[in-house]
Parts: sequence; C-alpha cells; structure tokens
Amino acid sequence: MSELLELPVVENPLLFKEGAGSMSDHAGGVEDSLVAETTSEEVVRRTHALKEELRDRIVILGHHYQRDDIIQFADRMGDSFELSRFASELNDREFIIFCGVHFMAETADIVSAPHQKVILPDLKAGCSMSDMARIEQVQDVWDEIGGYIDTEKVCPITYMNSSAAIKAFCGEHGGAVSTSSNNRAIFQWAFDQGFEKVFFFPDQHLGRNTAFYQMGIPLDEIKLYDQTQNSPSFSRRGPGGGLTEEELQQAKIFLWRGHCSVHQHFQPSHPNIMRALYPGIQVMVHPECNFEVVRQADKVGSTSYIMKTVDEAPAGSKWAIGTEHHLVNRLKKDHPEQFITTLAPYACECATMYRISPESLLDILENLKQGVVKNQIVVSDSEKKWARVALERMLEITRLTRT
Ligand code: SF4
Repeated sequence: MSELLELPVVENPLLFKEGAGSMSDHAGGVEDSLVAETTSEEVVRRTHALKEELRDRIVILGHHYQRDDIIQFADRMGDSFELSRFASELNDREFIIFCGVHFMAETADIVSAPHQKVILPDLKAGCSMSDMARIEQVQDVWDEIGGYIDTEKVCPITYMNSSAAIKAFCGEHGGAVSTSSNNRAIFQWAFDQGFEKVFFFPDQHLGRNTAFYQMGIPLDEIKLYDQTQNSPSFSRRGPGGGLTEEELQQAKIFLWRGHCSVHQHFQPSHPNIMRALYPGIQVMVHPECNFEVVRQADKVGSTSYIMKTVDEAPAGSKWAIGTEHHLVNRLKKDHPEQFITTLAPYACECATMYRISPESLLDILENLKQGVVKNQIVVSDSEKKWARVALERMLEITRLTRT
C-alpha cells in the first residue's frame, strides 16, 4: 500500500484560522481570487471582430479547464474527447483552433479531415502527465518485459492524455485508447479478447482506481512499473521497473508511473477537513486523484460526470470538488443555488492549459487573416494510421457497451 501514498499530506493552516469555516467566508474565497479576468478590452474587441470576419473558416474549441477569458471566445466547450469529436464533425471549417493542450490538438489532427488544419495557440501548452510517457521509453520497456513474459498476451492501453506516438503504439499492438469515463469498459474488453494482462499508460491513479474500485482486481495483482528505476543510475534488482520476475509474471495490470500534476494535489486529509467545516457536504472527485482520496469520496467520475451531477443536483446541495479549479469555479458561478467549493484549500490549476492566453489566440487570428498558419499541429501519417485504430477501437467498445 505504501506505493499508493507517494505524496506528503499537505494541510493548509489557514483553514483552521479563527473565523474560517462559515459558508459565506468561503464562498468568495480561493476560487474567485484566482480567476481575475485580465484581458484588455482592446484584445477582447479585436478577437471578437476577427472571429466574426473568419467565422466560415474557423472553429474555436475550449477545454473545460480553460479560464473564462478564453471560454468567452469558444464555439464549443468540452473535455478532450468531446472536443475531438466536435473537430471531426465540423469538417466544413478549414482551421480548428484548439484551446487546450498539445495531446488534445494532436488527437484533433488524427480525427479531423485531411483538408483541416489544427492550431494550438501556444506551443508550450503541453501536459505534464502526457510527457511522463515517451515513446522511446515505452518501446524499451516493451522489449525488456518481452524477455520475461509473452507480450502478445499483454494489451497496451493508453489514456487519452498521451502523445499520438503512444496511441499509435497501442493501436499497433492490439490495444486501445481510453478516457476516464470508459476506462473500465476498455480494460474489460482487453480481458474478453483473451489478453492476460493490461499495461496502462500514463496515469497510474486512473489505472489503479479502475482496476481496484471498479473491477475488484486485488492490489497485489496491480503493479506499478516504475520506469524511473530503469535509469542507469539505479542498480537494478530485477527485470526493470522495480519489479521482480515473479511480480511481472503474476501481475494482471501494470501501471506506468505517471500522474496528473493538478489532481495529485488533492490529499487524503482533504475530504474530512471539508466534512468538518461544512456538515452535509458531498465530496466528488475525478479518478485522476490518488487511491486514498478516491476511497474517501462520495462520488467519483469524469469531467462530464461531475458537471452532470452538479447540473442535476437540487438547490441547497453542497459539494467539495476535486478537479481543476477553473471548472470548479465555473460550476460555482453557474449554480448559485448550490454551495460549491474546491476540495483543496488552495486552487489546483493546470498551469500548461493556462498558457493559452487571449493574446496568443488573437495572434493566431491576426496571422490567419494575413494568410499565415501559425502553430499548426501535425501528426505524421504513420502515427495517424495506428492512433486512429486505437481510437476507433475505443469508440466501438464504448458504443457496444452502451447498447
Ligand atoms: S489537468 Fe492534468 S492531465 Fe489535464 S492537461 Fe493539465 S496536467 Fe494534463
């Protein structure tokens, strides 16, 4: 169990200061203070004007974690999967301007039509989780474990939050892509196909939470493959990943050592702190949170699930939500009839998502007006081919499990 609790418990002493704890004190607290809109009126005016001028050629997609001063320009909002679906449906638009992070823009390029171009307003908008699994590492690990187990019987599955190269790797090796809402169905599909093991990239928490809480797989059959232990500076005590040969053979699920740098901030102490401060509050978290946080939550689910649950909740409901704070703050604004706060006593913000600024979006539009395509994201044809296979498998599995 110790490997599950990698992070120190962080408590914010401010929570316990005198006077803290009333709903009204908190209602204008940590979330609001971090979302000040800073865009100048001139930038807003020029962006709206250019958007109108280019409206038959562009579509602007905004991820739920984007700040409001980007969302105000978005034609469509959604999570990474929903936005890619919109991209594939809107094939009359030549340019898809993706206000999200790099892997999302790659996915949009994979599923969009050949004549469409996908643009990421700031190329530094990456995803730390996606960056934790590089294709060279994954290929090395695959070759290495092949010396101990039959990799034909291991199904590689990757979370949507991964590079096109990793998605292609999974497609080529019989695996699929998954999202936080269909991960269980994809794992089950792998076993139903006759695979004996699943290797899940890159989010260890989503993988563990799915395998244990949703599928009942015992923890001793869920093994963390710690790729950081494969560095030459470590003295290896086994095949690799910190595992012995016996562990490699016995495990049913291997988890890559990756995590979301936003959701890792939610700590096992937070649910009880919130329950003590706000009696009757319900804790709802995203499954990228760690195992112990998920254990203590009242509800667990994807971004869409969290939004739907709040949308359908009665007035007076109280929620402490463990996910990115721009989304929590938007829910709070949209539902003044409910009490909504972030689960952590500080804002958990996706810093890379935040790199997409109104100024960078305006710059893209001004360049397009001049005929210049800036920051286009292009996935190679070979990666596209196999990544599409992995994505199509996911869509088919999801369709079949819904009927
Ligand atoms: S919230 Fe986490 S998983 Fe999502 S883009 Fe940011 S770092 Fe990546």
